[in-house]
Amino acid sequence: MKAVVFRAPGMPLSVEECPDPTPGSSEAVLKVARCGICGTDLHMTGGHEGSYSAGMIIGHEYAGEVVALGSGVTTLKVGDLVTSLPVRGCGQCGPCIAGDPMRCTGPEKQSASRGFAQYVLVNQRSTVRLPVDVSLADAALTEPFSCGLRGASRAGIVPGATVLVVGVGAIGLAAIFWARRMGAGKIVATARTDRAASFAQMLGATHFIRSNDQFDGELIEALGGPPDIVMECSGARGMIDRSVHWAKPGGRVVVLGFCTDHDSFVPATALLKETEFHFVNTYTRQQFTHCLDTFGRESIDFQNLFAPPVSFDEFPTVFEQLRTKNSHLKFMLDPWLERGEAR
Ligand SMILES: [Zn+2]
Ligand SMILES: [Zn+2]
Repeated sequence: MKAVVFRAPGMPLSVEECPDPTPGSSEAVLKVARCGICGTDLHMTGGHEGSYSAGMIIGHEYAGEVVALGSGVTTLKVGDLVTSLPVRGCGQCGPCIAGDPMRCTGPEKQSASRGFAQYVLVNQRSTVRLPVDVSLADAALTEPFSCGLRGASRAGIVPGATVLVVGVGAIGLAAIFWARRMGAGKIVATARTDRAASFAQMLGATHFIRSNDQFDGELIEALGGPPDIVMECSGARGMIDRSVHWAKPGGRVVVLGFCTDHDSFVPATALLKETEFHFVNTYTRQQFTHCLDTFGRESIDFQNLFAPPVSFDEFPTVFEQLRTKNSHLKFMLDPWLERGEAR
């Protein structure tokens, strides 16, 4: 099969011929339909702390069809359309039993993040079946939207709460989506460019304010006061400091942005305001399932969020282009697309 392999930071990703996966007893093989490029993929191939290891097939936002089953699989059948948590966990420790393999305390978490490939091996316990009416492309958004769900849950949004969402990539949009569904009142979204302004509003933001010198005043005016909750989704340096500055006294700052640089803020500012902090990583299986169920219950048109799917031929170039400014929000690999077919 064809797959995208990470070789070294600073080198473009390499599309290689790799062995087709064979399922072990509790495993299934998925024929991948879509796998989304995540900001984390850009960071973890960029030579930062916690890089992917050399030789790894990457990609953790995928969905596909079950095409082969191990002998011990009882919960899936060939032809099922599923997505999967990108970490399997050991299946036996406390967090795994509670549905939280991301916080597995077993010897190894067993990453299942090999989605930029024609086939991927998953464990039956990590998979979630797609509700009818959810497309495989939309299902590949379950991963980033589940991060947003966990963030919004941690934010403790009560009906009418005012929310500022900083950064409007996929995670910021997901934060807006869930904040709206949890009963937030006014939601301001902000970013350096307004490319995502209409998506932010489509998903539930009441205001979009492009960052500018008058931002503080415009924010107060839009919300009628400082926000109860700031959700930092940009991962940019300096934004935790700004988030503390923007939040109301006693307010909450929820950090979802993945920043791999050292960053600073003034503790006294947070202390005087008694700012409550939450740093949020990934999701539980229950949150993942709830996210997909919500996609199934509500007919949400995510298609405008996507750039046209990318083929293997285009993939390494598109991936490198995403390190600089780009006009689309979510790029997905279609591993079965011939070059230029859908463009
Ligand atoms: Zn991701
Ligand atoms: Zn475990």
